[in-house]
Amino acid sequence: MSMTEETAEAFQQKLQDIKDAGTYKEERVITSQQDADIEVESGDHVINFCANNYLGLANHPEIMDAAKNGVDRYGFGVASVRFICGTQSVHKDLEHALSDFHETDDTILYNSCFDANTGLFETLLGPDDAIISDELNHASIIDGIRLCKADLHVFEHSDMADLEAKLQDAQDAETRMICTDGVFSMDGDVAKLDEICRLAEEYGALVMVDECHATGFMGEGGRGASEAKGVLDQVDIITSTLGKALGGATGGFTTGRQEIIDLLRQESRPYLFSNAIAPSIANAGLKVLEMLQENDDRRETIWENARYFRSEMQERGFDIKPGDHPIVPIMLYDAKTSGAIAEELLDRGIYVISFSYPVVPKGEARIRVQMSAAHSKEQLDRAIDAFAEVAREHDVIE
Ligand SMILES: *Cc1c(COP(=O)(O)O)cnc(C)c1O
Repeated sequence: MSMTEETAEAFQQKLQDIKDAGTYKEERVITSQQDADIEVESGDHVINFCANNYLGLANHPEIMDAAKNGVDRYGFGVASVRFICGTQSVHKDLEHALSDFHETDDTILYNSCFDANTGLFETLLGPDDAIISDELNHASIIDGIRLCKADLHVFEHSDMADLEAKLQDAQDAETRMICTDGVFSMDGDVAKLDEICRLAEEYGALVMVDECHATGFMGEGGRGASEAKGVLDQVDIITSTLGKALGGATGGFTTGRQEIIDLLRQESRPYLFSNAIAPSIANAGLKVLEMLQENDDRRETIWENARYFRSEMQERGFDIKPGDHPIVPIMLYDAKTSGAIAEELLDRGIYVISFSYPVVPKGEARIRVQMSAAHSKEQLDRAIDAFAEVAREHDVIE
């Protein structure tokens, strides 16, 4: 070991600073499969309201079987990037299935949507181009933009007048691209994609939408916020994940026009220099897409759960950010109260997480509850009752 005491102390100090700021993150260990009901290390069972397991597919028997079959048929791994010797038929099958699903020309798989986003911008855009990005976009979009030499114009969150002003500022650029999350994870609010696409048309810009919190369950066919807003055919580039509603393992993708996907296959660095996704995951992904298109029971259940939970909580006097998404932000404003309530709920078997500054703006602390199609009505009722009891003790509701 060559690390000096000085360096070690500097790292220790950084850790201490994080602790002092109250933002030190601990991992909570789960000893069961991911589900609506999970077992934690103490052996207790809690109802889980913080997974992105929107459709409850994370431990669905048919999907687990598809993963096992994938191992039997294609082996465990390919030990290669895609373009050397890491492309199996199952990778192509999944790319085709994702393209059919989105009604796009082609799709390129990545190990994550984080990779999809970091490999996107610098491949397509250069110093003569401009990116116009919502200020609340996901960290992976921000990092992807950092790697790209295009001019960056950040517009205020979902502010269409500011977007238009930024588009005007960028009129001299060769190519303009507007990028936005389809659904923003902290508020569960949906991007104004209809207006964004109209402005894109007017000012000649491409539109890129990250559909991570929408793929699989938003829109009539589960194609995301773009479909829900009726602009699927106007969005040029969709990136999304297999790691949330679509089974929750790992994997991401970019889908869109042939020229775009072809270019990404040539030059996108996370695709060129990182391993192909495991064939078991690709095989399971195929099964997920098949299930989504067979019936929409799970899609209906999650929206029903979201409607029920939102209205019952509002009835009890909770302040909930308006919207209808399965991300339900219970606004508590004060960071300490929010943290304490989340802790006490966990003691009562309700696993929720409190978010405060710097993850959300100062004075806007909240408990973010995420619905899943796996939640039963009885589980929702238990959570609602526990929320009401604990919040009353903290004088948050009457
Ligand atoms: C979760 C998320 C990602 C990252 O997806 P991974 O596949 O887990 O890397 C990217 N963008 C948004 C908006 C997300 O919510």
